[in-house]
Amino acid sequence: MDVSRLLDQLNDKQRAAVAAPASDMLVLAGAGSGKTRVLVHRMAWLMEVEKIAPFSILAVTFTNKAAREMRGRVERLMGSALQTMWIGTFHGLAHRLLRTHYTEAKLPQNFQILDSDDQYRLVRRVIKSLNLDEKNWQPKSIQWYINGNKDEGLRPQHIDTQGDPTKQTMKDIYQAYQQTCDRSGLVDFAELLLRAHELWLNNPEILKHYQRRFRTILVDEFQDTNNIQYAWLRMLSSSPENNMMIVGDDDQSIYGWRGANVENIQHFLRDFPAASTVRLEQNYRSTGNILKAANAVIDNNQGRLGKNLWTEDAEGEAISLYAGYNELDEARFIVARIKEWSDKGDALSDCAILYRNNAQSRVLEEALLQESLAYRIYGGLRFFERQEIRDALAYLRLINQPIDDAAFERIVNTPTRGIGDKTLGIIREAARGAELSMWQATQTMLAEKRLSGRAASALQNFVELILKMQSDIRELPLEKQADHVIKHSGLFAMYQAEKGEKAQARIENLEELVTACKQFEAPAEAENMSPMSAFLAHASLEAGEAQADAHQDAVQMMTIHSAKGLEFPLVFLAGVEEGMFPSQMSNEEPGRLEEERRLCYVGMTRAMEKLYMTYAENRRLYGQDKYHTPSRFLKEIPSECVEEVRLRTAITRPVQNRFQPATSHMAFESTGFQLGQRVNHTKFLEGTVLNYEGSGEHARVEVNFDNFGTKWLMLAYAKLEKI
Ligand code: ATP
Ligand code: MG
Repeated sequence: MDVSRLLDQLNDKQRAAVAAPASDMLVLAGAGSGKTRVLVHRMAWLMEVEKIAPFSILAVTFTNKAAREMRGRVERLMGSALQTMWIGTFHGLAHRLLRTHYTEAKLPQNFQILDSDDQYRLVRRVIKSLNLDEKNWQPKSIQWYINGNKDEGLRPQHIDTQGDPTKQTMKDIYQAYQQTCDRSGLVDFAELLLRAHELWLNNPEILKHYQRRFRTILVDEFQDTNNIQYAWLRMLSSSPENNMMIVGDDDQSIYGWRGANVENIQHFLRDFPAASTVRLEQNYRSTGNILKAANAVIDNNQGRLGKNLWTEDAEGEAISLYAGYNELDEARFIVARIKEWSDKGDALSDCAILYRNNAQSRVLEEALLQESLAYRIYGGLRFFERQEIRDALAYLRLINQPIDDAAFERIVNTPTRGIGDKTLGIIREAARGAELSMWQATQTMLAEKRLSGRAASALQNFVELILKMQSDIRELPLEKQADHVIKHSGLFAMYQAEKGEKAQARIENLEELVTACKQFEAPAEAENMSPMSAFLAHASLEAGEAQADAHQDAVQMMTIHSAKGLEFPLVFLAGVEEGMFPSQMSNEEPGRLEEERRLCYVGMTRAMEKLYMTYAENRRLYGQDKYHTPSRFLKEIPSECVEEVRLRTAITRPVQNRFQPATSHMAFESTGFQLGQRVNHTKFLEGTVLNYEGSGEHARVEVNFDNFGTKWLMLAYAKLEKI
């Protein structure tokens, strides 16, 4: 039997882990040291050498993407498809169990999964049905409370309220929510895990069946498991015939905010005292410089399990640090580097742009579109496709063009104003019958008093709201229009009331929409359109631009969280500024700064050959101009690993040669103008150069004049002087 292919490309320690006799094992190692590779080779080894059937293997990973990749890698090693092997995420596997044993799990056969938006809405309904005020019992906090308890394995009856009325009410809501779910056959994400756990707890014969079946359990990214996940794993492997191999890195635990418990690593060692620990210390992913820098950053955290990661690789290029003048400059810098890379013939899919917040993607997306570079966003939607952005755009569209039925339908009851599906059905019918838009039909029906009661007054209020906003924004500049509508439509307040990470991200995106309006420059073909119409057209075109499909060569864009476990030859880490990364929140919550630092470590260690870290000195963020200082993480990188890119694109303009007509043979010279340059203008006096477009004859600059606001000027004509 030739098993050399399973061991050849492994170092001694990896080989020892892969070829170990059946036993419990912890592989604890830093980024890029081959943990996932060991896991994959171990599976192949068990099948080929230990003759364990694929049927008896259970592997758990963190995302569906990772699960697919892992299956692909094992199947390639084995040279055949392995359908009976279970590889999936915790949620996916729990779901599978519950589908199989729905009777024992006390679920209807066709139970449905509630995603977190659905769950939020249901929690809200329950609060209302208990006659509680949403202001005091915020649906988002209740949702966190319910999920938090489920993650700890706690049902309402397990919660001790210690006579505290607030706690009692929360518990009552939880109970009522759960009763509704049970009655309607609904299962939320946290419930999947808890039910799967209870299924085994209450049905020892089913547990026994799976213990007999899954002789081997393998878990990747173990540092991010939560308590119920760990309890579930422990139960499955509690008999001596079962073995569990877990791999993880405490330095990459980045989901503490969502209930992950890095101490599960210690719990594993406590609960499986015979387990051996393997430490891998050689990194195969990154160059010496990248690794040294990442190690230096993470070294600032306390209480690490500690490891010493090294590489045989050459030092490689220094990490390039670029201080953009603003976020546009930062984005253009990144895109210019990607263009150089792709012009050399290298694949776009080898480049990744990683950022801390989803809202950062918009400026980057636009810069990529401008250069016609295909890109793909993972684990998130493109800016103009996000729910809150589509909501806000729908308001603007309806105000701008009231016959837009799609916009009408989208927002007539967002935020909720008691206009139900039934009323909407009536309006739809009436509109169709009279060949009117829904907006017109609504007004006609209201005028003719064909609607009654609550629905009529709710619709009346809605119509008045739209008409009022329409007249209020008429004289405002574009970005003020957007800002006004976001605030007065109730969208902003709705998301603000939700609380939690996701709602925060939505608010940030809404504010980012205001920034997008502020930066928007109508193209020449839009000269007969109002700025708002031109902007809305731009937004729908961008949203309509098909996202590069999975097979197309495209730049990879994602948050650092979604980049866990992945690697790319060329990585850009954007927005490395105080207040962005580490995020503002890290000042407010204990432990959060260290989690941000681990996130930085995760981000940096995705890079194989070349890492760029960029920040913007001025960032128009969430509609406001902010001055940012470089992130403290940058200061933690040893200076010999970094090289600061000083070059800032100079803006060029034509030099008019006295002997030649200005149009042809124009010579170009650098103007000496740069972003951030202070200038003087005959009419508008002093200002700062903010942005530029085109070069030479077509060069235009945007200047923020101290007394006259921002203006775009043709460099060839404007009498601008440097000061
Ligand atoms: P992360 O912590 O980021 O999840 P990891 O520890 O899981 O990283 P892998 O993704 O398994 O690391 O490996 C990192 C890279 O190093 C991969 O490209 C892998 O193929 C390569 N690699 C791992 N071990 C070896 C080896 N012994 N020889 C050559 N290449 C290796
Ligand atoms: Mg990995």
